[in-house]
Amino acid sequence: MNLDGKTALVTGASRGIGRAVALVLAQAGANVVVNYVHNVQAGQAVADEVGRAGVRALLFKADVSRPDEAAGLVEAAVAEFGRLDILVNNAGITRDNLVLRMADTDWDAVLSVNLKGAFNTTRAALRHMLKARYGRIINISSIIGLRGNAGQANYAAAKAGLIGLTKSVAREVGSRNITVNAVAPGFILTEMTDKLPQDVRNRMIAEIPLGRFGTPEDVAALVAFLAGDSAAYITGQVIAVDGGMAI
Ligand code: NAD
Repeated sequence: MNLDGKTALVTGASRGIGRAVALVLAQAGANVVVNYVHNVQAGQAVADEVGRAGVRALLFKADVSRPDEAAGLVEAAVAEFGRLDILVNNAGITRDNLVLRMADTDWDAVLSVNLKGAFNTTRAALRHMLKARYGRIINISSIIGLRGNAGQANYAAAKAGLIGLTKSVAREVGSRNITVNAVAPGFILTEMTDKLPQDVRNRMIAEIPLGRFGTPEDVAALVAFLAGDSAAYITGQVIAVDGGMAI
């Protein structure tokens, strides 16, 4: 994988899957914009690790659910590196509850970050990618967006929506050499899944043919492939990284 000279922007890159994606893209030679929203120390640690890979990092605070901040993030990337080649929409949150008990605020928060956030950054990034006639957009969806999950109607709706966004934008911008794909992770060991109770984890592992939970690096490897030249003829796809969970 050779991404020398390319610029990648990864949202929610201060930990978990976003961190692993930022590092693998840096190791492939891309300069990386490390977006964070709350934890500047964690963001700085990732930016430092990116720098140790021999490329440049830009640490930038932005809440992607806010159109102005998402646009500011993209503009900062272009101002710093002069281009934006790769956008990874990774930022995401959960606010789980059964539908009957779900507060409006929990529905709105998850849709705002997980779906509208990706729209906000994509719209801003496309202005530059269309001019450059080059781009790779990779949206981190979830197998929950394909299968649904009791207690996660808001999350499933947002992640399914992200798949619709992926396919529609892929059709809109394909003629300009911009690919748009979605990655659908299964159960990946991160702080997001740390909070699940042991009985839920036991039930889930029984459903995974490969018999283990995934790692952020399992997901990052696919993102790096989709960001590179080997994936030039792949667009509008949803690819699961789930140990076979959604077969
Ligand atoms: P995580 O909670 O460790 O990381 C999510 C990141 O998004 C955090 O750094 C957080 O600060 C950031 N973020 C949240 N709101 C933001 C906002 N408004 N603006 C900018 N950044 C924001 O979770 P993770 O497991 O690393 O998840 C990363 C992505 O992968 C998410 O979209 C998640 O839905 C998806 N995913 C995770 C799993 C899993 O099993 N962990 C499975 C499928 C999909």
